[in-house]
Amino acid sequence: MVNHTLIQYFHWYYNEEEKLWVKAAKHADSLADMGVTMVWLPPAYKATSGEESVGYDCYDLYDLGEFNQKNCIATKYGSKEQYIHAIKTLQDKQITVMADVVINHKAGGDQLEKVPVRKVNPDNREEFISDVMLIDAWTKFTFPERAGKYSQFIWDLHCFSGIDWAEDLKESGIYSIQNAYGEAWEEVPSREFGNYDYLMFNDVDFRNEAVQEEIKRWGEWYYKTCGMKGFRLDAVKHISPWFLNIWIDHMNATFKEDFFIVAENWVTTDVAELEAYIEETGGRMQLFDSILHMNFYRAGEEGQNYDLSKIFDGTLTQSRPELSITFVDNHDSQPLQALQSYVEYWFRPLAYALILLREQGIPCLFYADLYGCKYSDADNDGLVVEVELIGLPELSIISKIRKSLSYGIQTDYLDHPNCIGWTRSGTDEHPDSGIAVVMSNGEPGQKAMEIGLKHVGKEFVDALGNHHEVVTIDEHGWGNFFCAAGSVSIWILNHIL
Ligand code: CA
Repeated sequence: MVNHTLIQYFHWYYNEEEKLWVKAAKHADSLADMGVTMVWLPPAYKATSGEESVGYDCYDLYDLGEFNQKNCIATKYGSKEQYIHAIKTLQDKQITVMADVVINHKAGGDQLEKVPVRKVNPDNREEFISDVMLIDAWTKFTFPERAGKYSQFIWDLHCFSGIDWAEDLKESGIYSIQNAYGEAWEEVPSREFGNYDYLMFNDVDFRNEAVQEEIKRWGEWYYKTCGMKGFRLDAVKHISPWFLNIWIDHMNATFKEDFFIVAENWVTTDVAELEAYIEETGGRMQLFDSILHMNFYRAGEEGQNYDLSKIFDGTLTQSRPELSITFVDNHDSQPLQALQSYVEYWFRPLAYALILLREQGIPCLFYADLYGCKYSDADNDGLVVEVELIGLPELSIISKIRKSLSYGIQTDYLDHPNCIGWTRSGTDEHPDSGIAVVMSNGEPGQKAMEIGLKHVGKEFVDALGNHHEVVTIDEHGWGNFFCAAGSVSIWILNHIL
């Protein structure tokens, strides 16, 4: 058994010369070498903003960079052939590819329709603020360039529960579509704004059976075309959970697969919300631990005033470790993005040690931490800001330690506000495995920790080189391990280095 490691293989502002699909294929060997076992690729289908799009404003789920739609053939990330080649190349290296599934909404409709709607209060979507009225809205999707290839399904006003633009009135707002499936929104997990079914663009109405069948048909086509072994489900707190259950069961049964499923359910305070979602979905999906991410963010901001012994308190990793996907940052939390909460640079190696070297959770690396990136965008005041995120030199080292050495019984010493540590005893299955980790958000630290009798008399050194001591394990299997101020040290057997 090998530890699983996921990487989010993009960030919001991917702007490199090389198409992402080409880069992903080219780096398959180096990713496998550093211990990556799963790669999450961004949305691959044509979006309304064409070549500029990150992919979440999706237009045509069947256009993977094949048709001349939205002023381009290939997407920002490359062509359909390049996408399929990347998936095959990665999976040939035993790296599972997870495709991004964006089915909450569609954008960039082809034709206007007369749509009966009621406007709602944006802060309480259960409150109507207009009577029923007919507006012109872009609710009809005919995909003229694709012309029925792969699917002849035409989306129209009956396929959506809400829209945000009345073309005839030139007026934005949140309009609840009054169709055969009820005047109200779908029941969704999030109660923010009264009911958070509506997120953006044309919100898909899963109460329509024709829509359910079409999304199932699309899932079959997508897998048969590309062969990915996993899916990352976008924006699930805005989607009826019962439909996602049906969809996952359908995919698994149809293809006799056990697809790896991760859902994005952005919750930052109350883990009970994530636990309730797990109940509703019967544990079919792994969830990103956004609460742990926020703890990392606070730990970075607060420095030595943050109580490190509580870093896992209230997180999904603590309550449901088997379903938790841990991460430090993602494309939404990076600087200048909607949920900006980027973890301070000094804390990032500590955060990565916390997700990569412990038993609980499956860690997800962030593209920018591996390769770095530079971009600019407007901030909240409309000023253009240049951002540079620097790749972490420690990341591939820590990731390789996860792959080869971080095994066996975990003994925790999460017992001091400013200095915590843990050990992994190692196993016979993984030669030379067994590690000790110590980190501090204040003064230099040291911790006496038990690593196990199999290491008696052996010497350990810091793989990150932050501390130059050699620690010898005593006759009881204990060692006195160190770390520098505001730093992490990862102790491994001396002869490995
Ligand atoms: Ca929705």
